[in-house]
Amino acid sequence: MIPFLDLKAQFKTVQEPLEAAVLSVLRSGNYVLGEPVAAFERAFAEYCGVGEAVAVSSGTAALHLALLAAGVEPGDEVITVPMTFVATVAAIHYAGAKPVLVDVDPNSFTMSPEAFEAAITPLTRAVVPVHLHGRLADMAAIGAIANRYGIPVIEDAAQAHGAERDGIRAGAFGSYGCFSFYPGKNLGACGEGGAVVTHDSKAARLLRSLRDWGQEGRSNHVRPGFNLRLDAIQAVALQVKLPYLDGWTQKRRRIAAAYERLLGDTELQLPAPARHAEHVFHVYAIQSEERDRLRAELAKAGVSTGIHYPRPVHLQPAYAGLGYEPGDFPVSERLARRFLSLPIFPELVAPQVARVASALIRRCEERHFHAADA
Ligand SMILES: *Cc1c(COP(=O)(O)O)cnc(C)c1O
Repeated sequence: MIPFLDLKAQFKTVQEPLEAAVLSVLRSGNYVLGEPVAAFERAFAEYCGVGEAVAVSSGTAALHLALLAAGVEPGDEVITVPMTFVATVAAIHYAGAKPVLVDVDPNSFTMSPEAFEAAITPLTRAVVPVHLHGRLADMAAIGAIANRYGIPVIEDAAQAHGAERDGIRAGAFGSYGCFSFYPGKNLGACGEGGAVVTHDSKAARLLRSLRDWGQEGRSNHVRPGFNLRLDAIQAVALQVKLPYLDGWTQKRRRIAAAYERLLGDTELQLPAPARHAEHVFHVYAIQSEERDRLRAELAKAGVSTGIHYPRPVHLQPAYAGLGYEPGDFPVSERLARRFLSLPIFPELVAPQVARVASALIRRCEERHFHAADA
């Protein structure tokens, strides 16, 4: 059986330092925020090439607090995409704003800059492009439009740790960059975690206050805040894993290149080529009109796959209240129908990649055989 993800294999790589670091927190008696969190914040800010990182309890918390720090208020509109995890849209609701959705580009699967510009109104208060699957959205075009209208850009970089264009890393393009450290993300904690990165040290102070009950100094609550802190065990786990991240990303890219080589001659639609540095392959999604059958047949052949995501947010029952209908975002809807995510994680070895590819090729050939039969 080839798993879709194998976190136990990743644990083996970091077991010794990780166990020692977690044990040191257990023995310290200091479990929430504190020096371990501050140390990870410094390391992650440096990794992203920004002045500040503010660690929080999840990627969702990062988005929620970044929206508040950007000044989003009830009645405002925030533009994002329907082809994302529901958390992006949920966070906009937490901030009291109205999510305004725009379709994605069919090649990059990320926000269409033209659709973004067309959706801007006097109520637009922020834009949240999503670096879906680990591929950077078109930050040059989106940033230029946002600048022209004076709209803050909040990157949903939950899948894109370390993705880079022209030396700038995910999270460093916009006013705020939001990361998730959910265990299966490219940099994952041993539980929940997230971070907001920013160049703005004043904004970072506000974020640190918001995540910790609106305090500025002990028991001085200057604004209504939240309990969205990171705990020290997650911080040391992330600190131990961060030095491995670039090596893990290289392995993901090598696997993606192998899929491209092995599957290039099939009728399966592969992800459009991206410049080397701008994709960190959190997900490698092929497309097929026969996705569901392909997925079942691969499962029978011992290959686990995933779907990210089978239904765009505007067609989820929870978001029916937004008032969108099937057909409103044809690109997202088509991708949701066709996406099939293949196993891609750093510990996946070449023979396993070859087995996934040959299982797919066999299914494609059988289909042709039957088609010729009929
Ligand atoms: C994972 C993810 C989130 C939410 O992060 P959590 O840590 O699970 O709260 C938000 N947006 C995207 C695109 C994600 O993949």
